Amino acid sequence: MMESISIFDMLKIGIGPSSSHTLGPWRAAERWIAELRSASLFDEVVGIKVHMYGSLSLTGKGHATDYAVMLGLSGTDPVEIPVKDIHALVTKIQKTHILNFGNGLPVPFNPDSDILFHKKFLEFHANGLQFEATLKSGKTKKNTYYSIGGGFVVVKERKNAKRNIATFDSFPFPIQKGTELLAYCEKENKSISEIVLENERSLRTDPEINEKLRHVWDTMLECMYIGCHTQGKLPGGLNVTRRAYDLNKNLLGDSSTYDSPQTWLTTIRNTEVKFRQILKWVSCFALAVNEVNASLGRVVTAPTNGSAGVIPAVLMYYLVIENHETGFEEIKKFLFVAGEIGSIFKKGATISAAMGGCQAEIGVSSAMAAGALTELLGGTPDQVLMAAEIAMEHHLGLTCDPIGGLVQIPCIERNSMGAIKAINAAELALGSDPKDAKVPLDKVVETMWNTAKDMSSKYKETSEGGLAIGINMSDC
Ligand code: SF4
Repeated sequence: MMESISIFDMLKIGIGPSSSHTLGPWRAAERWIAELRSASLFDEVVGIKVHMYGSLSLTGKGHATDYAVMLGLSGTDPVEIPVKDIHALVTKIQKTHILNFGNGLPVPFNPDSDILFHKKFLEFHANGLQFEATLKSGKTKKNTYYSIGGGFVVVKERKNAKRNIATFDSFPFPIQKGTELLAYCEKENKSISEIVLENERSLRTDPEINEKLRHVWDTMLECMYIGCHTQGKLPGGLNVTRRAYDLNKNLLGDSSTYDSPQTWLTTIRNTEVKFRQILKWVSCFALAVNEVNASLGRVVTAPTNGSAGVIPAVLMYYLVIENHETGFEEIKKFLFVAGEIGSIFKKGATISAAMGGCQAEIGVSSAMAAGALTELLGGTPDQVLMAAEIAMEHHLGLTCDPIGGLVQIPCIERNSMGAIKAINAAELALGSDPKDAKVPLDKVVETMWNTAKDMSSKYKETSEGGLAIGINMSDC
């Protein structure tokens, strides 16, 4: 069966700082609770241990994986939980050594001794974690999960598990590759966003699709707004200063007045935007999102949390700089195209930095944004794919080496670079004849995957190479 992925699986709402190391483990904990309940074992649990493996172990503390599993085991949901409650809930567990399992069963739990970080890598995927319950009978029940990037979680070590997740066989236009997407566009005489909409309609009604897309966009806009209006240092010990606040303030000047994300957007539309201001605004939007992400705020995984700033920054660029007359219809189109391009990378390669380095995160988000912007700027479907290809082509081989295991350096700035490259890729594609392109999208997807396989594990979210060992935390 061909793998089909909804755009809402590519654009999930969650909590920072990492989709693979925070959102995925959180979802895995929720899934384990559901499985214990369905096996009538939930009420039998008297003790819990969590085992982290591979990249989850090596960068888990910096990526708040320990927080995520405690929040998931406590029965909270990453879409719903008020951000202000997160720290208090975790602190309570740390102080009392009691975890309210599944929000209903108090269980002894000491994070220092019950969360175990093993350096070993499990065979199937670099991000493995195992939950172990001690039952009243004295027996133990263990379940292993893999967080394979973008908040996706799989359970079984079957050989082709990577290719068989989140499947729906009801899509009218099943798409695995760029060439198939283009063929549907040509045959049906539809744009890429129209094809994607038809697929989504096989899963949800139009009002449901609109409601979910509004929620995604509102979360992106609010995230940029919060990031642009929060000062100070980021948590984690690197002493990174938030920069979106000053950028926004300096770009708007002292006289601007607004009191909500929407009026802020309108205010930006009225500012002067020469080339330098455009660069600064796009960077500001991207930095804002990833500063919120780094401080365990709410973001849209797009396709991951580490790269969550690229897509909102490019969409915001379109809304506030390119076209002031636009609204929700254009936002929908943008998100449809971005989601579809992301799913092509996920099917043909990976969106996990632990498997492919940062090309799988910032590279994919830049390709998603480039393609989506190209459709909004009037590009043909093959120009859309050409833009996505150009954006990825110039991220091939990009390593993942976060200092201190924190999603801050190089991650936050890297989002602004990915966003600017996306805009440039769109303009290059719009000014080109795709027939002249030497590298089709499907070839760059394949190349990215081959590059990922060749890459040393030092550069795949382990913090064992690159900047992560070149810069000491104590120097920061
Ligand atoms: S370096 Fe890139 S892939 Fe690695 S954590 Fe940062 S944003 Fe994610």
